[in-house]
Amino acid sequence: MDIIDVEWGEGAPADRIGEILSQDKQHEIKGLLIVHNETATGVTSDIAAVRGAMDAAHHPALLYVDGVSSVGSIDFRMDEWKVDLAITGSQKGLMLPAGLGIVCASPKALAAREQAKCPRAFFDFGDMIWANATGYFPYTPSIPLLYGLRESLAIIAEQGLDNIFARHHRLADGVRAAVRAWGLKLCAKAPQWYSDTVSAIMIPDGTNAADVIDVAFRRYNLALGAGLGRLAGKLFRIGHLGDLNELMLLGALAGAEMAMRDVGIQLTPGAGVAAAQEHYRATAAPLAARPPAPASTDAQLPASGKPAPRATVRA
Ligand SMILES: *Cc1c(COP(=O)(O)O)cnc(C)c1O
Repeated sequence: MDIIDVEWGEGAPADRIGEILSQDKQHEIKGLLIVHNETATGVTSDIAAVRGAMDAAHHPALLYVDGVSSVGSIDFRMDEWKVDLAITGSQKGLMLPAGLGIVCASPKALAAREQAKCPRAFFDFGDMIWANATGYFPYTPSIPLLYGLRESLAIIAEQGLDNIFARHHRLADGVRAAVRAWGLKLCAKAPQWYSDTVSAIMIPDGTNAADVIDVAFRRYNLALGAGLGRLAGKLFRIGHLGDLNELMLLGALAGAEMAMRDVGIQLTPGAGVAAAQEHYRATAAPLAARPPAPASTDAQLPASGKPAPRATVRA
């Protein structure tokens, strides 16, 4: 297995992938594995560009995409990008408890399965395909999670994917405005890689993000994400995907700001929250006309001044 290493904070390098594939004349490379949205660094990669590079190199490798923190939250196009295998989980954009691993395979990937010689049992699609054909599962399925998934998909269909992507982008832009107002930087090195589902926020040298995360949790009951691997201690993360709105996120920003000040990071109190508030105000959808006011409540007051018993309850 070849690992293409990049600076943490950058996305998948389509150019280098294209070069490597063009040099692989014997087509020894069977598959390409890419994380669409890298959750530890808050980086979104351009899968369409990777597909373009594969096509330009006329390389038949399968394209595997980890979409755990993108599917349902950031634009992801299985068919258009000719993704062969996409994975996601129930616990992120699908707004469910953890527990379902969801895999989507292209016809090409299903055909490759028939030729594959690697030994496998639990991870063999075959059992699932055969059992599903008659409406069954090869193992006991998590029925509660499947009911939940049905509801999540109904919510997503009702709201419309484009609206959901736009909402994530707007909420994320508010977080990014807060980060700028704090005078801090994201781990993602350039706007093309900024993730709309998670922001990894670098804190000043000489301070420890583990302390920020600890104080946020123990003092303010706020669970921030930690930096992983070589970024441990250097950043904290705010996730902003799924069922989320402005005020929920402003709460997280307020808590992060307080915890940062508590551990001695110099910030203007309220600066990040204010920047996010102003972003959300400036980009709020226009309000629909106010519905007509109900008939005067005075009429419902008997002479005693006490409210009359309610005959009906309105939502
Ligand atoms: C959360 C996440 C995972 C891990 O999912 P698990 O269900 O915990 O295995 C993998 N990849 C990405 C990109 C994620 O965001």
